[in-house]
Amino acid sequence: MPKVVEYHRPSTIDEAIGLLSRPTATVLAGGTLVNATPYTHPVIAVDIQDLGLDGIVELPGARLRVGAATTLQQLADHPSVPPVIRSLAEREATSTMRTLATVGGTVAAGGPESELVTGLLACEAEVTLRSASGPKTIALSDLLADCDHLLSTLIVEISFSTDGTMAAGRTGRTPGDRAIVSAVARRCPDGSVVLALSGVAPTPRQVTPGEDVDPPGDFRGSSEYRKHLATVHSRRVLKEVGA
Ligand SMILES: Cc1cc2nc3c(=O)[nH]c(=O)nc-3n(C[C@H](O)[C@H](O)[C@H](O)COP(=O)(O)OP(=O)(O)OC[C@H]3O[C@@H](n4cnc5c(N)ncnc54)[C@H](O)[C@@H]3O)c2cc1C
Repeated sequence: MPKVVEYHRPSTIDEAIGLLSRPTATVLAGGTLVNATPYTHPVIAVDIQDLGLDGIVELPGARLRVGAATTLQQLADHPSVPPVIRSLAEREATSTMRTLATVGGTVAAGGPESELVTGLLACEAEVTLRSASGPKTIALSDLLADCDHLLSTLIVEISFSTDGTMAAGRTGRTPGDRAIVSAVARRCPDGSVVLALSGVAPTPRQVTPGEDVDPPGDFRGSSEYRKHLATVHSRRVLKEVGA
């Protein structure tokens, strides 16, 4: 549990960004990870619940905009969200945690096993950030590749494509456990295919079909086993979307 030395609940994004410029200031969204993290330094908590950052809006061009403070449960329940993404949001956490954990927090955490982040990569998600230097929208894959993007920065929304055909596959130790490796494929309306994997790198990542991966092993799966799972699930989901 962190030692919280200051708690702030700003009501504007500018105020939040000002607070985040202070060393050790940390965004507090659902708090499911922040509250479980043994920070080595005292934390200034910047609670974003009053910023109005929740909500899901349909955009032209078959995209959805999801506010960073939208909970995983709201994402799982929304009828405009593609069924595969809804089920990945459900898989991400238990029902009590889903009512707290946010989409922005899940993206910022970028956990290597996050099936939702894997699905968002397959949907070519973009993340809109706000910092003292203004707003910026970057590909989710670029954000995951360099977490420096999040220094003194707030994720305000995530947008992603909702068209095309999607399929997801996974292996866990039990059906309810986190996936050791998961794969999500999406065939876009123009015929191109996007494939993303979890459990093969420090964050979920987009891969080209057939690309070699070099997963770190752990107690739930050796590197060799994860490689094998990545190959099998990639083949299955690509076949399912007709690629
Ligand atoms: C028991 C337990 C099980 C878990 N299981 C999983 C799992 O299976 N898979 C998985 O991937 N994760 C898991 N997690 C980690 C965590 O729950 C998820 O990453 C969660 O979705 C984080 O969302 P949150 O809103 O609670 O974020 P918080 O805990 O509030 O924040 C998480 C991190 O993101 C930053 N952050 C949050 N929102 C923003 C924002 N808008 N802009 C910039 N930075 C932001 C915070 O500063 C912090 O560093 C688990 C955690 C616990 C305690």
